[in-house]
Amino acid sequence: MDTETDVLVVGGGIMGCATAYYLAREGTDVLLVERGDLNTEASGTNAGSLHVQLPSSLFQEESEAMIEARAQTTPLRLEAVRNWRELADELDDDIELAVTGGLMAAVTEAQLRFLEMKMVRERRYGATVELVTGSALFTLAPYLSEHVIGAEYCPLEGRINPTLATPALWRAAVRAGARLWRGTELLALERASGTYIAATSRTRIRCSRVVNAAGPWSGAIAQMAGFSIPVEGAILHMNVTEPAAPFLTHLVQHAGARLTAKQATNGNLLIGGGWPARGESALGHIDVGRESMERNLGIAQSVIPDVARLRLIRCWAGRNIVGDNLPILGPVPGVPNFFNAVTGTGYTGGPVSARLLAEVMAGREPSFDIQPYSVERFARAAAAG
Ligand SMILES: Cc1cc2nc3c(=O)[nH]c(=O)nc-3n(C[C@H](O)[C@H](O)[C@H](O)COP(=O)(O)OP(=O)(O)OC[C@H]3O[C@@H](n4cnc5c(N)ncnc54)[C@H](O)[C@@H]3O)c2cc1C
Repeated sequence: MDTETDVLVVGGGIMGCATAYYLAREGTDVLLVERGDLNTEASGTNAGSLHVQLPSSLFQEESEAMIEARAQTTPLRLEAVRNWRELADELDDDIELAVTGGLMAAVTEAQLRFLEMKMVRERRYGATVELVTGSALFTLAPYLSEHVIGAEYCPLEGRINPTLATPALWRAAVRAGARLWRGTELLALERASGTYIAATSRTRIRCSRVVNAAGPWSGAIAQMAGFSIPVEGAILHMNVTEPAAPFLTHLVQHAGARLTAKQATNGNLLIGGGWPARGESALGHIDVGRESMERNLGIAQSVIPDVARLRLIRCWAGRNIVGDNLPILGPVPGVPNFFNAVTGTGYTGGPVSARLLAEVMAGREPSFDIQPYSVERFARAAAAG
């Protein structure tokens, strides 16, 4: 056997790096394996929006059961923002956290009524949100188009820079004693005499416990351990404008279309909201289609007219996790010492989910109930037909 560790973490995105950090700072022996480089998949390519509000697309695309399940994660998203604020203080590096407040803009009366209905559900789960209209709206957000007749305001939304935040976490994990191996792919898992033997592209690793933090590939890791979870990937893209003097002071979304827009610390506008990119080519390149880009930018311009005067300088794509809109966290009944660390609340909810998992792995009662995010829900759903 080449290497031994107590906990083997599979995946070097936000979930893996944050789990390694929270475990290592408790004194746990942790080895993280990442098949590529750290933070190069969704965790390094996401928009960095800190979300608390429920997205309007959820109501357009999902069943009532799915909407309600997602609404129930509101307290977790509130805790996620609190957790990011705590990390901004405790990590050595600047992570460009800005809790600026977020606005979801309505351009029709029907969209305003939709926001009112959405706010009732969000308030039920503890979110502070309010409808802002008329002159109050344009005092708060003078950059909005005159066609915007109202917006839902959530003061706890904002942004973070994922290209700074994940590295800040992995550096802190290393300082706390974690080992992070890049270019090391988990190929197979075997259980022998109460431990796991992990075959990787680099060496064999004996470990007592395994954490599955492989994002859209976590289904494949689960298969290696003998169970399944319904997780897939969807390729989305982001658009970036040239830098401008600061004017877009909030995270802006749309009540009737897919949109997130915000201004980064360096002045660039980051515009996205879940717009699809085309799949991988034979060379492994992801193609960002012009139509998807133009529709995304058109919606952005319709509520933020100044977008029209800025040049698009860059776009990129990343593979998001698609599941049932909920995290998959914690132990797996019947699979000893195997833990899932799959965020269902995006990059926003990554660190807090990792912290709660680390609490469970340390044998403590988690400071926030993660039972609703157990894999057991899939068995229950299957049994119910
Ligand atoms: C374009 C885009 C925009 C987004 N915008 C936002 C946003 O604004 N706000 C928000 O909250 N969320 C956003 N998200 C979602 C968010 O980025 C993801 O939910 C989150 O980053 C997932 O983190 P992860 O660590 O679970 O997965 P990943 O970042 O995908 O990391 C998983 C890692 O596991 C590794 N891996 C897989 N298989 C193996 C193996 N066998 N051996 C070793 N390593 C393996 C992969 O190489 C990868 O690095 C966005 C996503 C995308 C794609």
